[in-house]
Amino acid sequence: MSDKSKDKKSYGKDTQFVLSGRSPSDNHGFVNPPVVHGSTVVFEKTEDLYLQKAKYYYGRRSSPTIDALTQAVAELEGAHGTVLTPSGLSACTLALLSVVKTGEHVLITDTAYEPTRHFADTILIPMGVEVEYYDPLLGSEIAKLFKDNTVAVYTESPGSETFEIQDIPAIVEAAHAKDIAVVLDNTWGTQLFFDAFAHGVDISVTAGTKYIVGHSDAMLGTVSANEKHWSRLLDVHGALGYHVGPDDIYLALRGLRTMPMRLRQHEQNALEIARWLEARPEVDRVLHPGLASHPGHALWKRDFTGSCGLFGLVLKDSTVSQARAMIDALDLFGFGFSWGGFESLVTHPAPKKHRTATNWQETNQLLRLHVGLEDIEDLKADLEQGFAAFKAAAR
Ligand SMILES: *Cc1c(COP(=O)(O)O)cnc(C)c1O
Repeated sequence: MSDKSKDKKSYGKDTQFVLSGRSPSDNHGFVNPPVVHGSTVVFEKTEDLYLQKAKYYYGRRSSPTIDALTQAVAELEGAHGTVLTPSGLSACTLALLSVVKTGEHVLITDTAYEPTRHFADTILIPMGVEVEYYDPLLGSEIAKLFKDNTVAVYTESPGSETFEIQDIPAIVEAAHAKDIAVVLDNTWGTQLFFDAFAHGVDISVTAGTKYIVGHSDAMLGTVSANEKHWSRLLDVHGALGYHVGPDDIYLALRGLRTMPMRLRQHEQNALEIARWLEARPEVDRVLHPGLASHPGHALWKRDFTGSCGLFGLVLKDSTVSQARAMIDALDLFGFGFSWGGFESLVTHPAPKKHRTATNWQETNQLLRLHVGLEDIEDLKADLEQGFAAFKAAAR
């Protein structure tokens, strides 16, 4: 078996997920790479260090285990290189720190993951970075917000909690005309459903915690860059001292192999639940880009090749206590943060609290569902149980 002889890019995407970042012939034929635990690397000769002849020189910077996952993700994304961070959030913050400096201006989508905004407000602004939030529905008109010191546009599509689809190619075109970098939080789109670099993005981030790991048992982030942004990203990553433990990386590598298959089942289950919810009398609207009723559906169809298990719904004529009664009545949809594991989850977001460039006008209650891999009929029965409690609850 000559696992290195063929250009992996000539294979289909699922095959690439199976092959990327591993080489049995380098590991005595074992299918998976060994999990290397290590800090110190000792050198046989001083020249190994001083003339940089050694492949590895310190555990924080690299190891065969780190290489296996970073190479896999870089291959899958078509990136120049990938680094790992201890969580998805640290991947978002690393991406920002590697594109902006004091005195420079960065545009961040108003619908960015809330902890990313918190980072910008509590770290970037006091450091003297000019942070400006923008309406996610701006496409090429984003150019009107560019200043002489604008260095980056931070995007996330669809938006956290409210699922607006951004016109990434239009933003990229406007930004690149002024030599401004485009960063994308691609956690929802994943390495499978949104090809960030083919759409011109410079730095792409995913919370590997979600679908790469896929089993709610480890946390990490990936940051990938094109050639232009790679050396600065690698330098800032090294300067910050980020490191991910080998056992967590191993869980991510294990998750990666089945990610396309899991994602497509999440996609199918979520679409079926979303369509079923759309027809329910208790539901005002469903915020799922894969539905024809979604305002961003045409852009989603143009740019994405699929949808994941995460979407929102607005409950008709609803109060906070009714939404809470519904959540409390659910058994299969666990109430908790994060998503991307095999199990169904629900949260109760309040986007009004942290939007500044746009206005979330909705007075009805918003729920966010992550549809897992359970039987569809069980999930529907669980939601019916929730709707019964919703209707019975005092307003
Ligand atoms: C969950 C999430 C993150 C953060 O990931 P963690 O691993 O929880 O830190 C970042 N961006 C998006 C869009 C997310 O959904």
